[in-house]
Amino acid sequence: MDNNEAPRPNGAGDAHTWGSYTVQLNTKTTLFSAIMATSMLVVLIAVSLFSFRQFSLISAEAHTRTAAEIVRVHLTESMVAGTISRRESFLNRLADVQDLLSARVVRGPEVAAQFGGGLKQEALHDSIEQEVLQSGRPYFNLVDETSEPTFRATIPFIAESRGDPNCVSCHTVPVGTVLGAVTLTMSMSHLKETALLTVATMALVIGIFSLISVLFLRRLTRPLSRTAGEVREAVAAALEGNFDSRIERHTNDEVGEIADRFNQLTAHLREGLGKISHQVAQLIRWTPPSGHTNQLVHTIEMVGGLIEAAHFKQSIEEDETKREVYCRLARVIREEFNIERFSLYEVAASKNRITPVVVDAEPQENCRWCSPQILVRADACRAKRTGHVIDGAETPQICNSFEPSGEESLTHICLPVLQSGSVGSVVQLVFPQTEREQMATLVPFIQIYLREAAPVLEAKRLMDTLRESTLRDPMTGLHNRRFLEEYVETLVASVHRRKSVVSILMVDVDFFKKVNDTYGHDAGDSVLKAVAKTLRQTVRASDMVIRYGGEEFMVICLDAVENAGDQVAEKLRTAVEQTKVQLPGATLQKTVSVGIADFPTDSETFWQAVKFADVALYRAKESGRNRVVHFATEMWQDEQNY
Ligand code: GH3
Ligand code: MG
Ligand code: MG
Repeated sequence: MDNNEAPRPNGAGDAHTWGSYTVQLNTKTTLFSAIMATSMLVVLIAVSLFSFRQFSLISAEAHTRTAAEIVRVHLTESMVAGTISRRESFLNRLADVQDLLSARVVRGPEVAAQFGGGLKQEALHDSIEQEVLQSGRPYFNLVDETSEPTFRATIPFIAESRGDPNCVSCHTVPVGTVLGAVTLTMSMSHLKETALLTVATMALVIGIFSLISVLFLRRLTRPLSRTAGEVREAVAAALEGNFDSRIERHTNDEVGEIADRFNQLTAHLREGLGKISHQVAQLIRWTPPSGHTNQLVHTIEMVGGLIEAAHFKQSIEEDETKREVYCRLARVIREEFNIERFSLYEVAASKNRITPVVVDAEPQENCRWCSPQILVRADACRAKRTGHVIDGAETPQICNSFEPSGEESLTHICLPVLQSGSVGSVVQLVFPQTEREQMATLVPFIQIYLREAAPVLEAKRLMDTLRESTLRDPMTGLHNRRFLEEYVETLVASVHRRKSVVSILMVDVDFFKKVNDTYGHDAGDSVLKAVAKTLRQTVRASDMVIRYGGEEFMVICLDAVENAGDQVAEKLRTAVEQTKVQLPGATLQKTVSVGIADFPTDSETFWQAVKFADVALYRAKESGRNRVVHFATEMWQDEQNY
């Protein structure tokens, strides 16, 4: 099968990349095998040719030596037989021997001196012969190696005394004298042809084997390269969050097993990841956007968000106040989600009011991004009224109370936080319209935090309400004595630190019992409420009015310099005197008596000052009621004596 016909893995990238990868591996294999085969062929041819040449030279040398010996023996025999004069025909016929191109004998100077110059063809032919005659060393040489190679040998005949007859028995020369030489020229063509033919055959055989090897190797590596390509594509897809790719099993060996195991792994991952992702999405109540999604990245993000939110919940549960919870939430919005513009509002439990708690990451009490009307009418806040997410980016101008004040490019998303079935808080995110998409992806993650914060805020709110209820008198709305007991430590510390004075005013309604007796208990309650209201309205906001007991009130005036307490007491007395209490069928006007003591000027401890104020009150009652009496030391002495 051709590479192009190879099936492509599911979800594979572009075919070119896939193809080029496959070709790469195959080409590498082919190229490597081809280079190896060619190198081997070249080396083998070179070695063979060289060996053939050497063999041919050795063989030619041996042949010429044999031929020279035959010539020598024949000439010797001719001399002994006396037929030396007829040697010409022998010499002529010698050249007719196949492959022997020429054969010639030359006489040495000593032989020429003894027997004359000899035949014409026995004359010195060239300088090589001259050299050989002089040196007595044979000469061998391959001539013209290209077109028709020939081998020339010039072999000297050296006089020796071996055998019978021997050279020196006829020649009057000493042993070792060069008697002559024979020059033989042989054709090497047939050897060359044989060598070339052999090498060509060998090269052909090797070439065929190499080709078969390359093809076989390619066949072996193709499944591997195809599997590798598919794995590569599948891994790339998995990195994009797509675990659907499957690898085809091409062979029944380890490569095929790799494909199977890979498929099992991706199936396992796909299934596991799908389950985790689904469950986490359910927990978050958010579905990752379909289509182009990276499930793995989304799941990691979602799990990360859940873990962070769990840590957040742990922290806020240990926080002491609602404000701390709000501040922590604000920090998360700013630091984890990088949102700079936002507000956290708290909806007052009973009244139709909203209070900003954090605005743009700072504790605040004023509206920054909303019309101030929501502060007095909570229903003006659409998120509070409907309990729905209000997305100004999706539906511009959805909420009339959103006022970006000058920054018209800004829009908002308001998230209600439900507590006890109603909206307890509202988180408002403000951002440029251009960041709408980014914000939409953040909102589900912010909602996780809000869901974690909701029950904690609710519990803290409940605690606050409970606590508040134990410290207040439900009928008059004033703080009670228990509040005073809790507050006294802070108050005394503040007085000492600031070196200030507080006036303690004990206020008691005169002849209150009569009201009860004459008009009934409800009328008495109405009088108490009216007195409480008058007291509250007459003193400064920083002063404290406490319902100390039955019809007895305590007013604590802070920073009471220069008889300020006495002046306040007088003011109170007059105000109560002028207060008309409307009852069914009657209008009442009551008076109060007031006893005053200053702390720490009149006493060392706070509770002693209270006691002194009480003594002063008693004096006020005694001396006719509807009056103010400041404590004096002698009053205490009188009390003791009494
Ligand atoms: P005076 O202080 O001027 O000496 O006379 P008084 O009549 O005000 O004196 P007393 O302290 O004897 O009366 C207090 C009465 O206040 C007794 C009690 O029944 C009544 N009282 C206490 N608490 C309440 C209350 O919450 N509601 C009503 N209606 N009456 C209360
Ligand atoms: Mg009274
Ligand atoms: Mg009383």
